[in-house]
Parts: sequence; structure tokens; C-alpha cells
Amino acid sequence: MTTLTMPENDTQTDRPALETPFVSVALPIGVDQTFAYRLPEPLRGKVWPGQRVKVPFGRGNRWAVGWIARGLEATDIKEVKEVAEILDDEPLLTRDLLDLAFWMARYYVTPIGQVFEAILPAAVKRKAGFKTVQLVVRTEKSESEVDRILSKQRRVLDRLAQAEGTPLAPRELARQAGCTVAVIKSLEKKGLVRIETREVDEFARDLFIELEEPKTIHLTAEQALALQRVKARIAAEEFGVIVLQGVTGSGKTEVYLRAIEDVVERGRQAIVLVPEIALTPQTIRRFRERFTHVAVLHSGLTDVERHRQWRDIREGRADVVVGARSAVFAPVRDLGLMVIDEEHENSFKQDTAPRYHARDSAIMRANLVGVPVVLGSATPSLESYQNVRTLDHYQEARLTQRIGGRPMPPVHIIDMRQEVAERKGHHALSRALEKAIAEAWRKQQQTILFLNRRGFSTHLFCVKCGHVARCPDCDVGMTYHAKPGVLQCHYCGQKARPPETCPACGAETINYWGTGTQRVEDEVQRKFPDIRLGRMDADSMRPRGGHARLLSAFRDGEVDILLGTQMVAKGLDFPNVTVVGVINADVALSLPDFRANERTFQLVTQVAGRTGRGPKGGEVFVQTFQPDHLTIQLAAKHDYDAFARDELETRRRLGYPPFGRLARIVVRSQQRQRAHEAIQAVAGRLIEPARVAGITILGPQPCPISKISRFWRYHLLLKAPSARALLHFFDGVRSDLSPPGNIQMAIDVDPQSTL
Ligand code: ADP
Ligand code: ZN
Repeated sequence: MTTLTMPENDTQTDRPALETPFVSVALPIGVDQTFAYRLPEPLRGKVWPGQRVKVPFGRGNRWAVGWIARGLEATDIKEVKEVAEILDDEPLLTRDLLDLAFWMARYYVTPIGQVFEAILPAAVKRKAGFKTVQLVVRTEKSESEVDRILSKQRRVLDRLAQAEGTPLAPRELARQAGCTVAVIKSLEKKGLVRIETREVDEFARDLFIELEEPKTIHLTAEQALALQRVKARIAAEEFGVIVLQGVTGSGKTEVYLRAIEDVVERGRQAIVLVPEIALTPQTIRRFRERFTHVAVLHSGLTDVERHRQWRDIREGRADVVVGARSAVFAPVRDLGLMVIDEEHENSFKQDTAPRYHARDSAIMRANLVGVPVVLGSATPSLESYQNVRTLDHYQEARLTQRIGGRPMPPVHIIDMRQEVAERKGHHALSRALEKAIAEAWRKQQQTILFLNRRGFSTHLFCVKCGHVARCPDCDVGMTYHAKPGVLQCHYCGQKARPPETCPACGAETINYWGTGTQRVEDEVQRKFPDIRLGRMDADSMRPRGGHARLLSAFRDGEVDILLGTQMVAKGLDFPNVTVVGVINADVALSLPDFRANERTFQLVTQVAGRTGRGPKGGEVFVQTFQPDHLTIQLAAKHDYDAFARDELETRRRLGYPPFGRLARIVVRSQQRQRAHEAIQAVAGRLIEPARVAGITILGPQPCPISKISRFWRYHLLLKAPSARALLHFFDGVRSDLSPPGNIQMAIDVDPQSTL
């Protein structure tokens, strides 16, 4: 990250109002250009970059809403139009967010208008009403002013006092106090409580339950050392990155919480980014238990809820912001710390424009403000690992032990080749895993099974002629879903009836091959009819809330086996889980992507981390057809350093990140020929500037998935020796990269996937 160029001025003083006669305005129209407008005399000295303006645009009486990007002393446009109206009293973007926006526009080769749009939630721009709920709060009136308080009423008041700061809905309060809502109503009549109507989001409502007394926790020596590193940076008020590498269950979150306490005591705010699927009530509750003012930003919020959170943060009512990717743009006034949990997760990269990486953007924002960043992971990305070794402002802190001295679980590698050779028929579960499940069940312990493929069978093919059921609109096979008995394309979502005879040769020899979560469910239920299994994947989790319900049933021991896709791999902390099975470790390993090994190592480590968290210990079974693969071997030994060393050597040899940088250019068109011509044209324009910049062009060629939703896809990869080289290269070529009409083009800097 140091090699990136910073915006010119890096002080945090307030930016002066623009006195210039003209301004450049960014419009959210996907064109990589800003437009000059005259600033009417009365507005000069009263506007700031980041403010929204209404401007005439295009022919006739048409208007557009845009953002002031910069002041201009002059413009060579002859008939320059005037800014019509200023829409915000003050800029919606804080100074650091504005600088971040300009950096993102440049680094991710995205029009600045699109970046502004991404930074501000839609509803902030619109202004909307709010959904409301009723909440019970205590009044000023003292109990002694009231004749008599019944014991039930007493319990209600006690519960309210305990939940201090956290509002409770009448029904929930009644449940917790073990009484009816009528008891609360009678307290209201006596004037001891008030039932207020307030705006809260639904997600927050789930959290009003189960507030526990925070236990007193004494940090381990490793935690204390890590915390000291972070606090030193906080005290020095300087930018720096601390990579907190801690094995699963080593207490990383406790370190974040303590560091944030320090920041909040200094009157500043912290932003915590977590992957969307790890943003569970369990995670959020840990922050709410510790801090009174926590704002939560996640993709399930409605526009209205998001707007409310945004406004609360903007007005300084949140000490801590916890959220997924876009929370990196939370408009806190006085940022004191950035925390990125599971920093290696590729879900931090947005796959639509602006294609930013939230971790890297967080580091840039922290750099602009001059505050530290904590990157936490059991398996840091190789980028971060390498940065620790090469960059001065990176530091490392390690938590090598699980809390309570618990050992890491033993990992058994199961050779599926042998299973196939020695057993008849198809079995998703190896004999060893089957035995372990039965054993755990007998002891009333629990199992988690992981398989990153939903549906029943992943391939349908004709044994006679080899015909495969493919999506007509995408270059992928269709997956068979047993319930409700349809073929489905996992890229465009379209469904089809499974053929009874082969559409190509007419034979009745259609084979259902490959294992998805539904087939595993089926097999477990056939083999163990009495075991209670809950499946958690994108198919099983509707309606909303199903996810949380299943997890709490699992926690309460009402479910014996939790089976699912990556949803079950992250963050779950259930001490009674003593068996973890990875049904097919080869899925990630065989992806045609240079990060396949890294992803596999991360995944096995994450999933393995779900067991051995309690005194009963735990074991992990990893099923694979490649038992000798080094990645699998090292993951089984929990040897991250050996893996990182080996993998870095390969990357160095091939010039892949973290040695050098990648960018990817993808074009899409419904006409194959046009897409092909367009990528050829792009490549043609880039050859010479790339040569000068020392950048290698790989391709052009069809993308590994050559068609999605009827769009043909071609790409090329740019391999640059450094971030700086890539940045300067795009500075030079971005203005003449716009493709002909009908062709869609995407530039992806630091791509997380090359499919
Ligand atoms: P990680 O984030 O590294 O997976 P967590 O922070 O979730 O680990 O910690 C695992 C469990 O250990 C949590 O229940 C947490 O409350 C508890 N814990 C963390 N630090 C300590 C400590 N120093 N002493 C006792 N318990 C701790
Ligand atoms: Zn499709």
C-alpha cells in the first residue's frame, strides 16, 4: 500500500470554501469525465467539494444532480452553463472521505461520479420516512412517588435498568421479566415508564434479547502484547498497520474490543469491518455488550434504515460502527481506528464498479487521517503477510494459542480414491467420517459438515453419448435440485425440467453425478434416520430469519448436525461441536485461479476452527482425491508459515501478487464476434503503453466462464511489476479505453477472481 500515490495535501484541516469562478461537477453517468459549470457570484466562497448541486445537463430543459469535485479558475468551454442550485447545506462527505473518493476513482479506474454514488447510501440522497417500533424507557419519576409496586412490576423495572442504554420492545421486555405486556402498561399508567415510538432497524431488534453480563476477562500474555502494539499507535496518533494473526479461538475479537475502548475513551470513533456472513447477531452482540452506541451497517438494511444509521453516525451518535464492506465509508467525524476482521476474505472486494477492496480502501482512509489499522485473521492474505515482511509501517502480532490452552484439533485427511476403490456405490461420507458422526451423536455431541456446493447433483450427463445438461445462456453446467426437482443455473438462476431421456441421443441413461448439500442431507438421513440435521445454504434459508433460527436451534442442542456452504465456516463458536467434516476439499483446489491454493488453505483452516472450542475437544475430517497435495497437508498440520513460504515462492516465480499487481479488463456483448473484436481493439491500444510501463499483457482470450446470461465474455490480464507502475499506466490510457456502444467493459484492479 505504501507504493500508492497519496492525494496532494494530507493534513486534516478543514478544507476552505471554493472561491473560484467555475467548478467541475461529477455526474453519476458512468462517463469518465467531469463537467465545468460557472458558479454564480452569490455562491462563491460558500460551496465545498463533495456538495451536491443541481445543474442543467444535455439538451432542452434537462437537469441532473451531481457533485462538486473541484474548483476551476478557468475553462475553455465556450458556452459554460451555471450551477442552478446547491442541494446540501454542508458537504455530505467528510474531508477524508472526499480524498478517499478521489483516490478510489484513480486507483480503481472508475469515474468519480460513480465513486461518490457508492460512498453515499441511496436513501441519503433521496430523503425518506422511517419505519418505527415501540420501545419502553424509564421516566424520571421515582418509585417512591408511587403507592405500591407489585413484584412483577419490580422485575420489569430491574430488567430495564440492567439493559441500560438498550431499548426493549414491550413484548420482549415482558418475556424477559416473565410477565405480560399488561404489567408494563400498568407501569406506564403510574408514570414510571414511557412507551416511545422510535425508529430502529429490524436487525437491531433481534439484538435486544440475551444481553449478558460482560464477564471480566484477563488478557493472555499474547493478547496483552498485541493490544500494546495497537495502543502505542493510537497514542502516537499515527498511521500504521498491525496484522493480528491469531489461530481460530485465540481471542482476536477481545483485542479489537480493548483497542476500541481506548479509542472511545479518547472521544474518537472506530470502524470494524467484518465479512457479511460473519455479521451475525452473535458478533454484533459482543460489541453491543461493550459499547453503548454501536451502529450496524449490513446489506439487509432497507434504504430507510441505512439512512438512519448513516445520519446517526454523521451526527456523532455512534462510537463504534460495525459493518460489511461499505461500512468503510461510514461518515464518522473523528476516526480513531480501523479494524478489519477476516481480512483475507475476498468478499471485501466489490464486484461492480467501483471495484474496490474494502481492506485496501480502509488502509488508505486510515493513512489519510493518520490512525492505525488492525487486520485480523487466522490466515492472513499473502499480500498482508508479505507487507509485514517488507514494509516499515506494517507490524505483526501473533496469537498462537487458543484461549484456555485448548489444543488445535487433529485433522485427518481422508483419501477418497481409496473409498471409491473399496466400497460399492456412491457415498458422500467416508467410513471414518460416518463413524465419527455416529460416535458424536451417541455422546450427544454435535457435528458441522461443510460443502461449498448447493443442490443435489452438480452434473447431469448421458452415459452413452457424454451429453451434459448445460445452461442455454451460460457457459456452465446446470445443477439438479431434488426439492423441487428442477435443474438450475447457479449463474443466471434460470430453471429447467430435468430430461428423462438424453436430448442428444435419446438414450435413457442420464446420470446424476457430483455431490451438493442436498445429496449429503439425503445420505445422512438415510444412514441415520434419527439424527436431526439442519441444512444452511442459499436454498434453505428463506424466509428471512431462517438462518438465525437454525443457528439458535443448533446452539440449544435441538439440531445434531449443521450442514452447509461457507455460511457454516465463519465465526461460529459452539463448544459442543466435536466433529467437523469437509465433504470435498477439491472444489476450491481445482478452481482455475492463481489463488486456488490460498483459498483452500483458508477454507480448511476456517472450517477446522469450528471445533475443539470446548473442553470436549474435537476432530476434523478432510475428504479429498488429492491427499498428497501440499496445501491439504499443511492445512492439516495448521502450518500457515510453511504454506505461506511455499506459496509465495510460486507467486514470485510467476510474478503474481503480492509480487507485482494484476488488473483485468473484461468486455461483454451478446454478439460473440463483437466482444471478440472489442477485446482485440482494447489490447491493440494497450500494447505500446504496456510495453513502456513494463507491464505484461496476458490474453486476450475468452474468460474461463465464456458466457453468462447470454453475454459472451472476453478478458485480458495485465501483470504489472508494482502498484505504482499500474497506476501510472492507467493514468495514461484511461481516457481512450471507452469501448464502442453495445459493448460493456469492466476494469478490475487487484481482481479477486479471474473466472
Ligand atoms: P477469535 O476471534 O480469535 O476466534 P474470540 O475473540 O472469539 O477468538 O475468542 C474466543 C472465546 O474466548 C470467546 O468466547 C471470548 O469471549 C473468549 N476469550 C477471549 N479472550 C479471553 C481471555 N483472555 N480469557 C478468557 N476468555 C477469553
Ligand atoms: Zn445460466
